[in-house]
Amino acid sequence: NQQDIATPSHTNEILNKYNLSAKKSLGQNFIIDTNILRNIVKTAAVDEKTTVIEVGPGIGALTEQIAKEAKEVFAFEIDDRLLSVLDDTLSPYDNVTILHQDILKVDFESFKEQYLEDTTRLVVIANLPYYITTPIIMHLIESSLEVDEMVLMMQKEVASRLEAKPSTKAYGSLSIAIQYYMDVEVAFTVPRTVFMPQPNVDSAIIRLKTLKEPPVQVKNEPLFFKIVRASFVQRRKTIWNNLKKALDDKQKEQELKEAFQKTNVDSSRRGESLTIEEFGQLADALVTCNL
Ligand code: SAM
Repeated sequence: NQQDIATPSHTNEILNKYNLSAKKSLGQNFIIDTNILRNIVKTAAVDEKTTVIEVGPGIGALTEQIAKEAKEVFAFEIDDRLLSVLDDTLSPYDNVTILHQDILKVDFESFKEQYLEDTTRLVVIANLPYYITTPIIMHLIESSLEVDEMVLMMQKEVASRLEAKPSTKAYGSLSIAIQYYMDVEVAFTVPRTVFMPQPNVDSAIIRLKTLKEPPVQVKNEPLFFKIVRASFVQRRKTIWNNLKKALDDKQKEQELKEAFQKTNVDSSRRGESLTIEEFGQLADALVTCNL
């Protein structure tokens, strides 16, 4: 479609018209390939019953493709220079609301009350600003929003950490933090050439589906996450050494020993080999330790 924002010529035209240059500090890399944007919208199965939250609409390229399929789009943009641009580029679409806010500071409780009253299916779609990929995902997961799924563009390397399985190089506390809440799948990869300006990494689209319940039931969630993080502090060390260090109390060594005996987890293994279920077992056995 000639009217689409996401063509190289149309994007250039818009940037020139508003005398704009991409702000590196805000992670601004605009997509100039309509097919990729359509694929993102398709991956999220957006339809007329779907309400979409977008992070960082930029000049509206992705927002436009979402708006064509969705019931409604709420797009949070931090850069005030883009507000009048978006007003202009998205004027053909009456189902788009631009909210001038830092996504990390949104009060989702009142947002929900104000805008999501009759929402049946809620998805988050974004070409994320790469400098805050993980904080944004965690912020959305931990918010009170009932998101059905998220389809997010991020650095390829971060995407592989999110979906990583045990005993791989990319597996770590981030993999577990996400997989505790979401089913993770890399949908497709995206070359750096479809952005303006081009970033110096390739990207991937990841699909996160909210799990009905976590893959493991634990007695104390904060403790579970603490143990997971502590187990990866020194990747090359055994889980025993990492946890002993976290306990930093000689007297607790005996408790740690007893905790391991209550599980099938061998304390000489490395954290990177433990499944999420095994971390759950360990956390429950350690529930009386003061970690
Ligand atoms: N959606 C557009 C596209 O795909 O072409 C732009 C994506 S660009 C990678 C990231 C966008 O996120 C930019 O528009 C940037 O200004 C915005 N952004 C950066 N930090 C933000 C924050 N904390 N809250 C909301 N938006 C932010």
